[in-house]
Amino acid sequence: AVVNGTAALHTALLVAGVKPEEEVLVSNLTFVAPVNAILYCRAYPVLMDADPKTWQMDTTKVEQFLEEECELREDGCFNKKTGRRISAIVPVHILGLGCAMDKIVALARRFLLKVVEDAAEGMGVRYQGRHVGTFGDIAAFSFNGNKDMTTGGGGMVVTANKQYADHARYLTTQAKDDPSEYIHNAIGYNYRLPNVLAAIGLAQLEKLESFLMKKRESAKFYQEALQDEQEITPMPMPKDCEPTFWLYTILVTGKDSGKRRKAIIQYLHKNGVEARSLWHPIHNMPPYVRFQAYQIEHSMPLYENAICLPSSVGLTTEDLQKVVAVLRQGLKSIRA
Ligand SMILES: *Cc1c(COP(=O)(O)O)cnc(C)c1O
Repeated sequence: AVVNGTAALHTALLVAGVKPEEEVLVSNLTFVAPVNAILYCRAYPVLMDADPKTWQMDTTKVEQFLEEECELREDGCFNKKTGRRISAIVPVHILGLGCAMDKIVALARRFLLKVVEDAAEGMGVRYQGRHVGTFGDIAAFSFNGNKDMTTGGGGMVVTANKQYADHARYLTTQAKDDPSEYIHNAIGYNYRLPNVLAAIGLAQLEKLESFLMKKRESAKFYQEALQDEQEITPMPMPKDCEPTFWLYTILVTGKDSGKRRKAIIQYLHKNGVEARSLWHPIHNMPPYVRFQAYQIEHSMPLYENAICLPSSVGLTTEDLQKVVAVLRQGLKSIRA
């Protein structure tokens, strides 16, 4: 257990063996934390596009990148353009859906990459019947205030590899080799989760199943209430995936969809409904423009058209009905 999800990702990448000057493949349509965690390791992110059908990392493009742009040698997979070794891949399970982990794990084995899953938004999501966060070599969860379960702030590194788990405990507790003599043979971090917060986490864990049930119910409500709306696309239901719908998100379609999306969000705010955008894609924000981004096509349109609807577990049926009613009015008054 660690102080936050970002620290969990940083730790997971270090434990998976990501070294300075290496490269790590990561989703481009994501909250920024996993990309920053790669940079904390002094490694380079290589940004991968989102699949328009699932909104998750596009595994067809990952395969194409590895096959066409990389060279597999005995000592690893090398990016032909930069000459650097690619040591890991970070699939980010976004919005309570799951990445195609069967494909990602198979590609990682073939190209000698470690898989570090960012499951911060994927708690309880199953892919092919199995929890996300258990497919890769190691995974990170977050207990931030906006996540499925929270400790105020917190996170966790999850792995089935005992050596990895020991190494994660070592690095996150200041790398003490001799706790009474204070001998350190590595540079560690103070990433411990305070025990008061861990106690809150245990209590939250008891309620997790009911939280996830509520998320699924809200998503079902939105899906059914909005199914006849022509000007929106509902959140996808990726094949083989049992989602939790951490944050229920729709796309505005039709002419000027990006502009209308902003106007509709404003309309929702004015009428007492909180709604927000997806994260701006990473590849064209100032600190990240210099990093390689592979055939980015769908990240921007997804971002530009998306509206995240209220998804808190505290929402009542009346709240959900209000959201739908205001959204319908907004769609009607801001037509294509
Ligand atoms: C929330 C989140 C994180 C980071 O978690 P913190 O606990 O806020 O540091 C990482 N990745 C994704 C995809 C997230 O949504």
